[in-house]
Amino acid sequence: MQHCYLCNKPFDGDAVQKHDEHIIQNALGGKLIGAEILCEACGNILNAAVDVPFIRELEPVSVLLRLARDRGGACAANAGISSSHGDLRNVSNIQFWMNNDFAVAPSKPILLQDQACRKVTVIAATNALALAFAQSKAVATLASKGYGVEVGTNLAAYIEKAILQVRSGAIEVQRGVLKIAIEFALQTGVARHEIAHLLGNGNLTTDAHLLRGC
Ligand SMILES: [Zn+2]
Repeated sequence: MQHCYLCNKPFDGDAVQKHDEHIIQNALGGKLIGAEILCEACGNILNAAVDVPFIRELEPVSVLLRLARDRGGACAANAGISSSHGDLRNVSNIQFWMNNDFAVAPSKPILLQDQACRKVTVIAATNALALAFAQSKAVATLASKGYGVEVGTNLAAYIEKAILQVRSGAIEVQRGVLKIAIEFALQTGVARHEIAHLLGNGNLTTDAHLLRGC
């Protein structure tokens, strides 16, 4: 292909450069690259408008499948938790994240008190945050009463259930799947005019009817 499928400008190696496009998004484990279907400018437009929201919606899937990325980097997804531990029942002001090693981390440090074992455990997103919180007055007061203090970064041992939600019908998911389908079709020889109705105006279509039907 000698033209960018989105803006239809011919590649000239200067103002309109070819873009190495991940046909299935790299963050989802995609390795197939289309080197002659999209220009740099349109690659950047679609990355921001389609790929980033799509990948965000599919974060729980990435976590569960422990997907590896070419560019590295861990992924994490927002998780709902349920726990019978007294210190985790009323934590509505805290968000929880599941990492792709299935560790669960809180957005703010959490103090878990075990009266039977005279132990307090501080769990935070990083060890440094947990250590800093272990210096707080609340922990020092318990330590002065003979409590042992532990720190950590994984809440998984204290929860019964972690819930990851995927909004499979969200427009962000539909546009992400449409982009994969379009690019795979073009890569395998389908002509641009066959998919022109799905291209919208300088971006992929946001027409919900078209997205549901394709
Ligand atoms: Zn273009």
